[in-house]
Amino acid sequence: MEKLAILTRFKNRPFHKEVPVAHKIGEECIACGSCVPECPVEAISEGDPIYVIDAAKCTDCGACAEVCPVEAIKANG
Ligand code: SF4
Ligand code: SF4
Repeated sequence: MEKLAILTRFKNRPFHKEVPVAHKIGEECIACGSCVPECPVEAISEGDPIYVIDAAKCTDCGACAEVCPVEAIKANG
């Protein structure tokens, strides 16, 4: 019962938004795909029209940003 009360109290608090920990791909992306194999946690996938990073998986390592030819990947925050 006590556990449930705690979960109820905190469930609407956006903890993940208070501390941004994901890189983000901007609209400069030319969809070359070079960043995909660089990601150690497979957080990058092909979107439409640009590639996207899954913020839930990204560990903010920065490896993808190193290889992007148009510097489209930025640290978020
Ligand atoms: S910053 Fe690291 S973990 Fe995040 S998408 Fe880029 S390569 Fe993957
Ligand atoms: S390396 Fe840069 S331009 Fe290429 S798909 Fe990734 S974000 Fe887009």
